[in-house]
Amino acid sequence: MKQSQMLIPTLKENPADAEIKSHQLLVRAGYIRQIASGVYSFLPLGRRVLRKVEDIVREEMDKAGAHELMMSALQPAELWKESGRWNTYGSELMRLHDRHEREFALGATHEEVITSLVRDSIKSYKRLPLMVYQIQNKFRDEKRPRFGLLRGREFLMKDAYSFNESFESLDESYDQMFRAYSNVFSRCGLDFRAVIADSGQMGGKDTHEFMVLSEVGEDVIAYSDTSDYAANIEMAPVVMTYESSDETEKELEKTATPDQRTMQEVADYLGHGLAEGLKSIMFKVDEQFVMVVTRGDHEVNDIKLKNFYDADIVELASEEDTRQLLGTGFGSLGPVNVPEDVEVVADYAVEKLANVTCGANEEGYHYVNVNPGRDFKVKAYTDLRFIEEGDPSPDGQGNIKFARGIEVGHVFKLGTFYAENMNATYLDDQGKSQTMVMGSYGIGVSRTLAAIVEQYHDERGITWPSHIAPYQVHVLSLNPKKEEQKELADELYEQLQSTGIEVLYDDRKERAGVKFADSDLFGIPLRITVGKRAGEGIVEVKERQSGKQDELEQTAVIDFVR
Ligand code: ATP
Ligand code: MG
Ligand code: MG
Ligand code: MG
Repeated sequence: MKQSQMLIPTLKENPADAEIKSHQLLVRAGYIRQIASGVYSFLPLGRRVLRKVEDIVREEMDKAGAHELMMSALQPAELWKESGRWNTYGSELMRLHDRHEREFALGATHEEVITSLVRDSIKSYKRLPLMVYQIQNKFRDEKRPRFGLLRGREFLMKDAYSFNESFESLDESYDQMFRAYSNVFSRCGLDFRAVIADSGQMGGKDTHEFMVLSEVGEDVIAYSDTSDYAANIEMAPVVMTYESSDETEKELEKTATPDQRTMQEVADYLGHGLAEGLKSIMFKVDEQFVMVVTRGDHEVNDIKLKNFYDADIVELASEEDTRQLLGTGFGSLGPVNVPEDVEVVADYAVEKLANVTCGANEEGYHYVNVNPGRDFKVKAYTDLRFIEEGDPSPDGQGNIKFARGIEVGHVFKLGTFYAENMNATYLDDQGKSQTMVMGSYGIGVSRTLAAIVEQYHDERGITWPSHIAPYQVHVLSLNPKKEEQKELADELYEQLQSTGIEVLYDDRKERAGVKFADSDLFGIPLRITVGKRAGEGIVEVKERQSGKQDELEQTAVIDFVR
């Protein structure tokens, strides 16, 4: 492609609202443009890289035995009412009416649509298991769209669904998908971890998230420094405790607002705070701090939680509800049931919290605006036990470290939740009606693209892994007004093109400095500069990632590139 004819609007300055590198660089390098908050257009360069990621995903899905289809983004409310999620999904679901006042949603996810489709077309065990996928824009009215492509309101997702006869068969589909996901993210060149995630209320116990390790990630993971063990600490740290000492108390007084409230006020505050996306509330009981942490996106995908807060908040004081509250903050998928086998730990917290909410007037008080990690050493209650950085890993290998991660993928054993609500059944080999068992598997394709930029950039721009880059070669003619430069560059461009190499040709009438700066910004792996020595048939080649450069005879270029 000739750059003079392409829409690549580069910028010298970072856009004012862009806080992180991937957002800054993708906008500055002319890959994407914001249309509204959390809504982006992909310009030609952006479209190309997005397609590269899509193609990797597509290949791995096909290999795993899933078949591509495309469902409608416009979804009738009836389906969501059947599953029960019309009332429980919350305000993240974009809802609209047609001219006849019929209700619709824009697809945030497609469990309902696919379940109705399969329910109506598959009747026999002979047609199971079935795996399908699509790559399509999803719509979620995120409370805080931010970080460019990382958290959009319209974004590209690959969503896959498996329909199985049994939980054993689901395990197999799940493992296939798990392997496909590992392949996808490895092929994207990402440093990632598959972490144990929170299964909430949605059925089977197994779910993993694929996390790209990055400082800008919104999740925190606990992982072993030697083995593969890793867990999202949102999975179970429903309670964090903090050692109380004089120092921490003094610190607290400096950084937080000590506050005494009545039970009703605490309850109101909790309700209010949760609605507003409250981060944490800390209670102090018997010299021990107990913290309930909630997350801003708690209502996402969440059934029980929404019902819970629609109910009377004062019921918080009951143990049942307290247990629920302890589970609610974590995981976008629903409350965690405090399991039987952690009675000691969980009961402790439940009891203390119940205590505080019952007796906040006199003995308990809480702090607001406390920032764990900053104000305290965090002891997260993870994987059903307390874990602290440096502790032995639960799998007995190595020690625990904490890191931030970007959730790029999520595999999930749904079990029979949707099939039951929506009556998706099949006849088994005895002719008996059985409920289908389902799994769902998502990859944030546009988010993955941004995560790649987070891991592949330097101070001058993006440094794409070569199979993700929009083009493999960037040909620059430094001064196209000079006939011998223009001729040689034209010729090289033609040759590379006809050899099937993806090549971008900067034929613009711009200063050399502008061309170099843009080229560094784009991050195309190999640059071929046609400049002063064009007359002798000599060009300069430079690798974007390593900075290695060399001079080459024109005749050697094609071989070198291949
Ligand atoms: P998050 O916790 O970041 O809100 P999620 O758990 O709500 O994500 P899923 O329902 O698991 O997301 O969707 C599957 C995948 O879609 C996620 O793993 C993520 O990569 C991607 N994704 C989800 N929300 C967004 C978004 N707002 N913008 C871009 N990608 C997203
Ligand atoms: Mg979400
Ligand atoms: Mg999540
Ligand atoms: Mg998820």
